[in-house]
Amino acid sequence: MRALSHFLLLLAIAAPVSGGWLHEDADIMGTRITVELFHPDPAIAQQGVDTVLQEMRRIDTSMSPYIATSELARLNVEAQHKAFGISDELFALIQRSQYFSDLTGGAFDITFASAGLLYDYRKAIKPDDSQRRKAAALINYHNLFLDETGNTVAFSKPGVRVDLGGIAKGYAVDRCILLLQELGIGQALITAGGDSRMMGDRWGRPWTIGIRDPRDAEKMVAVIPLMDVAVSTSGDYQRYFEKDGVRYHHIINPKSGDSARELQSVTIIGPDATTTDALSTSVFVLGLEAGMKLIDQLPDIDAILVDQRGRMHYSNDLQPARKPVDSGKPAAESVAH
Ligand code: AMP
Ligand code: MG
Repeated sequence: MRALSHFLLLLAIAAPVSGGWLHEDADIMGTRITVELFHPDPAIAQQGVDTVLQEMRRIDTSMSPYIATSELARLNVEAQHKAFGISDELFALIQRSQYFSDLTGGAFDITFASAGLLYDYRKAIKPDDSQRRKAAALINYHNLFLDETGNTVAFSKPGVRVDLGGIAKGYAVDRCILLLQELGIGQALITAGGDSRMMGDRWGRPWTIGIRDPRDAEKMVAVIPLMDVAVSTSGDYQRYFEKDGVRYHHIINPKSGDSARELQSVTIIGPDATTTDALSTSVFVLGLEAGMKLIDQLPDIDAILVDQRGRMHYSNDLQPARKPVDSGKPAAESVAH
């Protein structure tokens, strides 16, 4: 990233219309946030960057499971015993999550959290088989009762937990794009961990997004030019540990409470980042065959999958673009977080 900002600085000095390209990185939502945008008025460009970072912080404060006072953390406590009223925004995102659960036959399930919280990837902690099975029995998105009249959520039984880690970053990226549009900014790339969305062009050319080799941080398996789309990558290579030759990582199969192990990485390209975020996690759980079948049924959605042997698989609409089409340095890398 440092090299990239130097590169941009050089371009900014050389370019005739230079004033309004800005690039900033920050650590928010437990991940790396990147904003790159253009507006001819440097003051508006700066306002755009500030707005994005502020919005990311706002969403983190409300939806982080790690902040005890967040709305999500309070929901997890209160909805155990009663219907708990939440904000329109959180309610709508939970509803959207339930939509993706239906769409993916339950592969996407925000109640994965009852098992998810038994893992600590940094400390290499995992549940034993009986703990895992007990927690998996609580995972089911139908265990959430949503009532639109009062914006309330109730859990069907104690022990149910909700975590929006598979969709909240994409949602935050979409919110930021909307706020930039309201400021009149039409050229931007926003990234939150593995979720990105781009608007307009970059110096008159498409944005280029690199997909990381899941087993070699120095290598890319594809570089694709993109405009006005979102792209999300889910992978088993960022939050994981290995025990007895088995890789335990953060994407959980709701049926077993164990990590999903058919693929190494899933990249989804689609119209908005909430969708690509939810679908990248879902397809990772579904695996190669069921995952690709789902993607090929969805209009406007494409996928690039890397299987356990490192082989690449492309959804139908991407077949002609099989090879990396741009060998230059990409504007950004789509890296799972
Ligand atoms: P991503 O990097 O977008 O695939 O998101 C991974 C995150 O999604 C994990 O860190 C969990 O917070 C969450 N997650 C894990 N498994 C699931 C699942 N089956 N459904 C929904 N969210 C999940
Ligand atoms: Mg995701």
